[in-house]
Amino acid sequence: MSTQISVVVPVFNEEESLPELTHWISRVMNAHGFSYEVILINDGSTDKSWEIIQNLSESNSHLKGLNFTRNYGKSAALDAGFKKAVGEVVITMDADLQDSPDEIPGLYAMITGGLDVVSGWKKERHDPISKTIPSKFFNGVTRWISGIQLHDFNCGLKAYRNKVVKNIHVYGEMHRYIPLLAKWNGFPKIGEKVVLHQARKYGYSKFGLERFLNGFLDLISVSFVHRYKKKPMHFFGLLGTLSFLTGFIITFWLILEKIYGLSQGFKVREVVDQPLFFLALVAIIIGVQLFVTGFIAELMTSNQAKEAEYKIDEEINFDF
Ligand code: UDP
Ligand code: MG
Repeated sequence: MSTQISVVVPVFNEEESLPELTHWISRVMNAHGFSYEVILINDGSTDKSWEIIQNLSESNSHLKGLNFTRNYGKSAALDAGFKKAVGEVVITMDADLQDSPDEIPGLYAMITGGLDVVSGWKKERHDPISKTIPSKFFNGVTRWISGIQLHDFNCGLKAYRNKVVKNIHVYGEMHRYIPLLAKWNGFPKIGEKVVLHQARKYGYSKFGLERFLNGFLDLISVSFVHRYKKKPMHFFGLLGTLSFLTGFIITFWLILEKIYGLSQGFKVREVVDQPLFFLALVAIIIGVQLFVTGFIAELMTSNQAKEAEYKIDEEINFDF
């Protein structure tokens, strides 16, 4: 029988939560008769998370494990899980019991009902104010940039059609922007579901202000890359041409002014001595530089090696 649901869980130092989380997921799956797999990606934990994943998956073949050689971040962990997921619907969930496995059937129904992506919305959130205030701001800006009207982009609990996760590449701090990646790659049917949210029961949050700011930089670069990645020359070339032309026109105008403004005829020195000429020269040089930058970018994108950004050194319970 084919697998209906893959639950993808990134794990970084979550040893206390794992037994409770996996039992809870299994309980929900069994109660609804779903065929399922749970992919636990150990993202370089320094606690006993991997040993616990190994033990749990010995007695339950639905549990599958991937072990990273070190900590690569939540995005890399999700990406690795997405590559392996065979379920018709793929659900991501944090390992810390803040997201409730009881939401799985509702999310599953929304995807099989025709949506590409369903994002959880922690409407009543149980996090400190130092997280909720930046989060409101972040969500507003992301809505504005993406045109996707979600309240809670950062919610770890999300569901996708299998095809969506196979067609996106999640890296850096991009886990916050997966609905944007989905939309840009041709999967625009994005819905939202209000989900239960609990305070963290064990351990501590791994995301502070620094990662939050990194996320913003990733958003800017990814919006830019999304627009120009196929043709960087369209961006750099245009800027370069504008700069070059500005310099060229100024020079041309200075020459004309000298030729027609002076009765004693045209002298090159009188053009070259003017401050405006230096400005023109700088504009021409910048123009050429931008053009060259465009060429290099163009070469890089066409030669770009599709190298994996993370290394997996152990796999449990996968058939392939
Ligand atoms: N996580 C991860 N790699 C990291 C940081 C976090 O896989 O480098 C996992 C973490 O174990 C959890 C999820 O990502 O399952 C969300 O992390 P956390 O609960 O710390 O974030 P918060 O809920 O505070 O935003
Ligand atoms: Mg959490």
